[in-house]
Amino acid sequence: MPGIRHIVAVGSAKGGVGKSTVAVNLALTLKQHGLRVGLVDADVLGPSIPGMLGLPTGDASPRTQGGRIVPAERHGVEVMSMGLLTGDDAPAVLRGPMVSKYLRMFIGSVAWSPLDYLLLDLPPGTGDTQLTLTQSVPLSGALIVTTPQDVSLKITRRGVRMFEKVRVPILGIVENMSTFSCPHCGETTDIFRHGGGERLSEQLGVPFLGAIPLDADIVTAGDEGCPITANRSDSPIGLAYARIGKALAAELRDREQAVLRPFQWTWDSNDGAPAWIDDAVEPTSSAIQAVGLKRRDARTLSVLWRDGRQDDIDVRDLRLACRCALCVEEMSGRPLLDPDTVPDDVAPRTITSVGNYAIAIGWSDGHNSGIHSFTALRELGSRASATGS
Ligand code: ADP
Repeated sequence: MPGIRHIVAVGSAKGGVGKSTVAVNLALTLKQHGLRVGLVDADVLGPSIPGMLGLPTGDASPRTQGGRIVPAERHGVEVMSMGLLTGDDAPAVLRGPMVSKYLRMFIGSVAWSPLDYLLLDLPPGTGDTQLTLTQSVPLSGALIVTTPQDVSLKITRRGVRMFEKVRVPILGIVENMSTFSCPHCGETTDIFRHGGGERLSEQLGVPFLGAIPLDADIVTAGDEGCPITANRSDSPIGLAYARIGKALAAELRDREQAVLRPFQWTWDSNDGAPAWIDDAVEPTSSAIQAVGLKRRDARTLSVLWRDGRQDDIDVRDLRLACRCALCVEEMSGRPLLDPDTVPDDVAPRTITSVGNYAIAIGWSDGHNSGIHSFTALRELGSRASATGS
């Protein structure tokens, strides 16, 4: 989109996980860090962003400029929402195609200023609207909000798969309503359990961007139309958002610099092998990104990293390191895979790229649900060199 550097969808597979709250506070945080930010409330049928930002609603004839609607503005963030036009209390009755039409209009026919980020607060779920939207707008990627609960995580996995199917990169997972810190005694409690989002990211091979604690002030701030990060950017919540904003920016930067093209590699014949790009090495880079992969021999996968390090990973060690739900119990992290059941000569059959951040491996023992993120591969490489294997 001309004038807009990154369009990022904020999605969740189910409602009520705090997706809109995260979208609003992240928009404000990015703005506070000097970025130019717009926010689209893509929930045409149940707009909540105007309420959260205290914006007036129900202006049926908004100001236009050169035939384009001028967006509203709050805390320096430009905003477009159906609620601005129809009001919170009048949920529009619209059919699917009309919803898509409005959404395209909210992005393409709004007089946005030049923006670094346009965040799209998607409606919850993984239905038609979400699919249409992801296909009709040039997204840099999607950020998925979840809570640490089991049910939310299971549904989130489905949501992540939906985005992957339509080739929208998952920029990462944000765990909302994480640890509760009591404002009176300071004690912390994991009301909705803890660490689920991080484990899910590991299993799916997508980045974990950070966690936002469960905090009663977030609810009050949202209800009063003044998001928590507006005035308290140095609070623990404000700092948590700042960390997420930084991780998101790093993710987008890494993707812009990605050098390996998508591949589907047959291990035995070496057909479709990915490249090995020595020129892409930058010794000062801190990005954990593979710039080369090769079959050193039938039992060893070699990885060249952007910072110039090279790891040689034994393929059976790689099979044993699988973090998928069949190999590791989802909630507790307890290993389920008995190493004795894995044949000594287990080897990859196919290795396929997953976005720019992971590889998926189909194994000779029939196992094929594992995804290894570059972060996990790098850790495995470090362990292999530490033990000298
Ligand atoms: P969604 O967009 O996923 O439907 P909302 O952003 O509307 O969810 O949030 C649902 C409710 O949860 C709101 O009342 C909101 O204030 C509250 N909420 C969101 N995040 C948190 C949090 N971290 N701690 C406490 N309450 C939260």
